[in-house]
Amino acid sequence: MLQALYIYNINRYISGQTIMRESNSASNHLQELLRKLPAVDTLLAQIIEDPDLKDVPRAVIIDSIRKSIEELREAIRRDPAGFAGSDLADTAVQARVRNKVKAAMSENLVRLVNATGVVVHTNLGRSLLAEDAVRHMIEAAERYSNLEFDLSTGRRGSRYTVVEDILCEISGAEAGMVVNNNAAAVLLALDTLAKDREVIVSRGELVEIGGSFRIPDIMAKSGGILKEVGTTNRTHLHDYERAINEKTGLLLKVHASNFAIVGFTASVSLREMVALGAKRGLPVMEDLGSGTFVDFKKYGLMKEPTVQESIAAGVDVVTFSGDKLLGGPQGGILAGTRSVMEKIKKNPLTRALRIDKMTLAALETTLRFYRDEARAVSVIPTLSMLTCPLSHIREKAEALHRQLGMINTARLSSGLADSVSKAGGGSFPLLEIPTICVTIRIDGISAAKIDRLLRNAEIPVIGRIEEDAFIMDVRTVMADEIEIICNAVRQLLD
Ligand SMILES: *Cc1c(COP(=O)(O)O)cnc(C)c1O
Repeated sequence: MLQALYIYNINRYISGQTIMRESNSASNHLQELLRKLPAVDTLLAQIIEDPDLKDVPRAVIIDSIRKSIEELREAIRRDPAGFAGSDLADTAVQARVRNKVKAAMSENLVRLVNATGVVVHTNLGRSLLAEDAVRHMIEAAERYSNLEFDLSTGRRGSRYTVVEDILCEISGAEAGMVVNNNAAAVLLALDTLAKDREVIVSRGELVEIGGSFRIPDIMAKSGGILKEVGTTNRTHLHDYERAINEKTGLLLKVHASNFAIVGFTASVSLREMVALGAKRGLPVMEDLGSGTFVDFKKYGLMKEPTVQESIAAGVDVVTFSGDKLLGGPQGGILAGTRSVMEKIKKNPLTRALRIDKMTLAALETTLRFYRDEARAVSVIPTLSMLTCPLSHIREKAEALHRQLGMINTARLSSGLADSVSKAGGGSFPLLEIPTICVTIRIDGISAAKIDRLLRNAEIPVIGRIEEDAFIMDVRTVMADEIEIICNAVRQLLD
């Protein structure tokens, strides 16, 4: 701190020197303003007794003071004539410091209201956990556990066994394991099965997921050699057959999760690839991307391939995400035949990609729900939001609309609008689920400004702008968040 004060005083001295060389009245004004800047210790003495700041580390307060003074000095230098002298009043400077302290003390990762209607929104945290999964996760965090301890023998155990039995039970696979995320699962599987070997993939499946996950890049990192076959829209079994040679190590199928090729298309089914692999003695891997255990067609949505189907087709290993359509925590799940999974489990890379205990706890509980599909669909938020009947959505939209109507101002007008929600998370690229949105217009405030102000609210509210209105899709809004939205709008109006 002493050092900080010293630097600060030197700065004052230098700026004083610079200014004295100028000699018109403007520079006198500038000098006068700079002289009025408070000293760090004066400001500190003024606010240190503030009860609101009693839990704030002294270093944070001093840093906020220094930054505030620096900010004011910059503003004065930039435009001495336009600088408002009132900004230098004690109360104004103190308020500036308090804001800085508040910003420094608040967490960077904050909850928010997802009013985008995109259920698996990667930028907003993908899937929300079911209540029981949260309970299990907290327990794993707060208490010691048998994470890598075999209670029957009293010896060291493996964390990978925690979810293996339930994973096999619900998928039909012989063996399974989980790592940090699906990108890691793909990397691990390729590194194990295809290092320095050719991996045959259809040109229509060389996907980029976003966040820089691209099949060709992950392939290169794993040491696998990409062997593209077919064309963007059509790939046939004989394309794979002809590409097989003595360097081939793996046949890979990638689920084109976030796009669709429509029109004149042809692709080879996993079953056909498995038959070809068996004939030529090659393992077959599938990157399912989202991965689900539920056939969404039953719920009026589109067909998304299920994990059980891939296993039943005889795939050697299938990989998928824990936090996309599965509705669990971030994780990369691998399931497949015992012999291939044994090789994967022995890869030293697993240590670098390993899953955390809290994740493991949440994942175990989430997977157990799938023993009873009806239960899974009702308690796993991702599933319940995706399958939520329009009548429920309408009730929620009407409740929000009604509450907004109770805000006492003529400037605010809200309405209901039919729209469509997206599943997100690189799943169901063509699916548009009918939904009801609540629109907001405010006299004298543009939709863009409403969007910005709500985004910066105490609890941020994220929606979108359409036709000059701010729009909220309530599919992804929880019942208790209606109040939060209304409070944010009230504050915005103030
Ligand atoms: C999302 C996705 C991935 C990456 O999964 P993460 O869990 O986000 O690492 C890989 N492959 C496909 C096909 C995907 O859709």
